Amino acid sequence: MEYDIVIGLEVHAELKTKSKVFCSCKNQFGSTPNSNCCPVCIGLPGALPVLNKKAVELVIKAGLCMDCEINDKAVFERKNYFYPDLAKAYQISQLVKPICVGGKIELKDKTVRLNRIHLEEDAGKLVHSSRAIGTLIDYNRGGVPLMELVTEPDISSAEEAVEFLTKLRSILVYSNVADCKMEEGGMRCDVNLSIKPKGSDVLGVRSEMKNLNSFKSVYRAIKYEAQRQIDILEQGGKIVQETRKWDDNKERSYAMRKKETSQDYRYFPDPDMLAVNISRELVSKIKDSLPELADQRFKRYVSYSLTEYESEILTRDKAYSDYFDKALSVYFEPKTIANWFLTDVMSKLKGQDEIKISPEDLALIIKSVDDKVISTKVSKEIFEKAWEEGASVEKLIKELSGNIEGEELRKIVETLVAENEKAVSDYRTTDQPEKVLRWFMGQVMKMTKGKANATQAETMILELIKE
Ligand SMILES: [Zn+2]
Repeated sequence: MEYDIVIGLEVHAELKTKSKVFCSCKNQFGSTPNSNCCPVCIGLPGALPVLNKKAVELVIKAGLCMDCEINDKAVFERKNYFYPDLAKAYQISQLVKPICVGGKIELKDKTVRLNRIHLEEDAGKLVHSSRAIGTLIDYNRGGVPLMELVTEPDISSAEEAVEFLTKLRSILVYSNVADCKMEEGGMRCDVNLSIKPKGSDVLGVRSEMKNLNSFKSVYRAIKYEAQRQIDILEQGGKIVQETRKWDDNKERSYAMRKKETSQDYRYFPDPDMLAVNISRELVSKIKDSLPELADQRFKRYVSYSLTEYESEILTRDKAYSDYFDKALSVYFEPKTIANWFLTDVMSKLKGQDEIKISPEDLALIIKSVDDKVISTKVSKEIFEKAWEEGASVEKLIKELSGNIEGEELRKIVETLVAENEKAVSDYRTTDQPEKVLRWFMGQVMKMTKGKANATQAETMILELIKE
């Protein structure tokens, strides 16, 4: 029998705020364990939470980027459960009245509907260290603002799930809502998956896989889980609703516990938290300040006559796109700058992510070639030196731009033109004279080992070969 795979995702992303969501402790990854903590975020009795307005605004911003409706009123609830990384034994979260409802993300071939986006607090982190007896707990992460986004079950393959997450991450990074550094746990994903006979309207029993922290493990976990469920049904078995743990090293999942429902958490409105009124003024203010997202930048680049392929690579990473825009603001030659970026910069970037030449400097090198101050060959040398040795581009251009000029250069050009009558007549008859001119320039550079003053050389050649 053939089956449809039905997937819904729950994605958690840590918001980019300076402080935590219910206290003023730092929201900072990598600090000394338990150094960013206070009575509120370690849940001491009597400590009262205060809401971080910025966190609410970031969730609204995320919602507006994904066409969500923003509720007038948002309510915080207690989600009660005991676990050592949650010192209060409840998490402040949202169930009935989240900040955002509905919304969507467009993929290449389908629209994935969103159910909601809400704000909650992160828990601490358990550290299993061989150097310690038992387990250590770091509460620095406890109280870090998290947005949780829940999709409708519109995703039907591992490939689509990864496409969705890639798009979501791009939106959150471009809008400055979250960094989504998956290696730091800044974005985590739960996968709900069920299967049903192909074309059937009846949903199967689903399992949930928690806290997947890379796109690769989401992909592999989905492939594995879909096959596991198909095998059970094919053998006449029954799928149970449960939470499973994915082990990326062993490439398989294990049953953890029977899946909880929201009743199990005994949600109730947190008496310490007032409901939040979200004014329409605030929403429209945030709406007016939304930044340009990857899709919009992509369209803008295509309008500069870049190919879709080039535009896609430039917008894949916000750092690339920011770099490209910065270079354009210095020298607006999109095609040439994109070419340099996609060949020279990208080949240097292999295996590292720091671009070791500023966008201003790259633009200056390119402009100097176009202005014929330096040859293409010299430009590559300058690029290399600037990247590898951090040399000053401006200084190098001055040093390496041609110093053979004036009478000395004129003699060379005259000899060259005299010896190449055919090329001269070609220049006068062809419909692409600039190609012939470029050939002459190349010859001059060859004869002078790239040391000719290019601007002067071009003027001299033109004087001699133009009719
Ligand atoms: Zn705190």
